[in-house]
Amino acid sequence: MNRLSDRKHRKLKIAIDGPAGAGKSTVARKVARALGYLYLDTGAMYRALAVLARERNISLDDHETLGAMASSVKMDVREDNGVFRVFLDGREVTDKLRTPETDRAVKLLAMSRPVREVLVSLQRKFAEGGGVVMEGRDITSVVMPDAEVKVFLTADLEERARRRWKELREKGIDIDLEEVLHELKERDRKDLERDWGRLVKVDDAVLIDSTGKTPDEVLAEILRLCEVKASCSTDLPGACSL
Ligand code: C5P
Repeated sequence: MNRLSDRKHRKLKIAIDGPAGAGKSTVARKVARALGYLYLDTGAMYRALAVLARERNISLDDHETLGAMASSVKMDVREDNGVFRVFLDGREVTDKLRTPETDRAVKLLAMSRPVREVLVSLQRKFAEGGGVVMEGRDITSVVMPDAEVKVFLTADLEERARRRWKELREKGIDIDLEEVLHELKERDRKDLERDWGRLVKVDDAVLIDSTGKTPDEVLAEILRLCEVKASCSTDLPGACSL
């Protein structure tokens, strides 16, 4: 049994932010599994609402209507056998989350502050009590600024595009690498530019570049950070800075 998951009294909050395709989901899931913690893919929550907005023909720049939609739908999430599943009012939408159409829609929906407020509040509830690994864009800065472990995970743009392209191809979606690269750049730009909850590396986040690294290598780096934090003595201020 892992030393960290053994520590009943020190259930860490682990926050991972970074651009699309940096490998956050794979690594965050592995960290959660290694520690016996809960895992929350916040991107999947934004994606689920983008699916619903498209189904309801809500304009993606109508932020107020999007916010009303977000606050009136019941969202449930759970992980089964490595699949992060999302349900809206009891209906599963998991299969629709990672399509090129949802990629295009989600970056616009994520600019709606009313939508972000609804999701941030759900995510904070999920984090209560700790023992959670959460990944997204604004987790270290807005959702869990109190997280003990904060990571900014990134990778070269080309490598990120290749990973995303492979993922889509494996699902049988025929798309050019160039198109995926263009879409990623656009999503990065929107994620970096929005007024509220933008992607940012906070000062106390540890930067990890996953370019050329395997998910297990990144996992090992994050578990090392967790070990430092879990073995920290609050009697020795400053002794535990990462
Ligand atoms: O992580 P993923 O690529 O699935 O996220 C999809 C989109 O959702 C991102 O491009 C971003 O616009 C939005 N998002 C966000 N805040 C988060 C997580 C995702 O704005 N915490």
